[in-house]
Amino acid sequence: MSKIWATEYPAVLTAAFALIVIGLVTGHWWLASTLTLGGYILWIYARLAKLEKWIRRGTKVSQVYDDGGFIGIIIRRLHQQKKTHNQRKKKTKQILGRLNRNISALPDATVLLNPDLEIEWSNEPARYLLNVRSPQDLGQRIGNFVRSPEFLDYLANEDAREQIEIPAPSDPSITVHVRNVAFGGGQRLIIARNISDQKQLQESLKNFVANASHELKSPLTVISGHLEMLDGEQRLTDTGRASLKTARRQAARMRDLIQNLLLLSQVESYQLRPDEGERVALLEVMTNTMAAMDKFEDRDRVNWDYPSDLYLLAVKSEIEGICINLVENALKYATPGTPIDVRWQANELGEYSFEVSDRGPGIDSDELPHLTERYYRIAHNAADTTGSGLGLAIVSQASNKHGASIEIDSAPGRGSTFRVIFPSYRCLQAERPTARVFNLSDY
Ligand code: ADP
Repeated sequence: MSKIWATEYPAVLTAAFALIVIGLVTGHWWLASTLTLGGYILWIYARLAKLEKWIRRGTKVSQVYDDGGFIGIIIRRLHQQKKTHNQRKKKTKQILGRLNRNISALPDATVLLNPDLEIEWSNEPARYLLNVRSPQDLGQRIGNFVRSPEFLDYLANEDAREQIEIPAPSDPSITVHVRNVAFGGGQRLIIARNISDQKQLQESLKNFVANASHELKSPLTVISGHLEMLDGEQRLTDTGRASLKTARRQAARMRDLIQNLLLLSQVESYQLRPDEGERVALLEVMTNTMAAMDKFEDRDRVNWDYPSDLYLLAVKSEIEGICINLVENALKYATPGTPIDVRWQANELGEYSFEVSDRGPGIDSDELPHLTERYYRIAHNAADTTGSGLGLAIVSQASNKHGASIEIDSAPGRGSTFRVIFPSYRCLQAERPTARVFNLSDY
């Protein structure tokens, strides 16, 4: 028997006793039953009326209603549940408060947006970086505060890049790095960080590398000239000749490295608008690319295929940088003796593509995303001292600058194909005039 019924025993026994006494005294058992039952119902009713009064007054924790019977037990259980619920609510509130304080203290500007891009919450740094004040601006669209078209495109485009860099709406001299984190119910968290210091540091580093490379160029030319002169010297011993050979090889390597550093800093030093560029003849680019391969003894394994009447609206030294680096890589890394195909092609969309295919060892798919990072070299090739890890960084930066896309098709054992596709607005034919021609000296 449950505890609830056990509490009612005394009342039931009292009622039974009353029934028997009234029945014996009056001799009317019907009357006795009605009186006893009525009394019992009235007693329960009185307890319920007390309960109602207690609820009406408010359920105080210190004064839990207890009628000593089953109603008291039910109420105590309900009350216990309510107490646990209140404790949980208090704890959740504390956690939320702590979370709120922690997010508010984040050094990054943080803004929570609803699916309509209206501001639901923002912290203090959002005021300084994005001009968003809380609580005044809550409910307003983020586009009213951050008007950069790049930012609005970034929010509108679901498949957008992971992050963007824009000038801060509060002060355009500050660069902010913005991330859009989507989460449940179409909400988004916009996190913006001031990266002006990093930008400045990167700029100074770039300038330092560019200046240092430039300064190294002249002494290196002098050293290379002297080494060349010594090459014709008859009185050199065998050891001296071996040392001279090593010195010349290292000087050539240093020259390539400096050239690559200078080309990379040139590529990054300015932006190219879609209608800007020189009229670059692919024929000339390929002639120079072939000449640059003279240092490879096995250069005859390259099959060259290019039309003589195609032109690009581009920066010539940078297009040559793309071609030379891709062909040089094929000659360096493809298995000796295997053929290499180099091809320029025009497609039906009016785009020109430059493609280098080899039948070399191929590249593991894990490595592919990193190939265009500067100084990145694949571990097993790192022993090859002729590389610097700058070649594909130049290819990538110069392609981006010209609006071209890069495709790398490679798998271990299947060889590699590197393809750079130039957009139609850069692709010219012999008779078509150039949209706008400039000289590099303009910059
Ligand atoms: P590096 O100066 O080392 O050649 P790159 O940036 O040109 O630098 O290339 C980066 C790495 O990519 C190279 O170290 C090499 O391991 C790999 N790589 C580039 N081209 C090829 C290719 N055609 N076949 C195999 N590996 C290649």
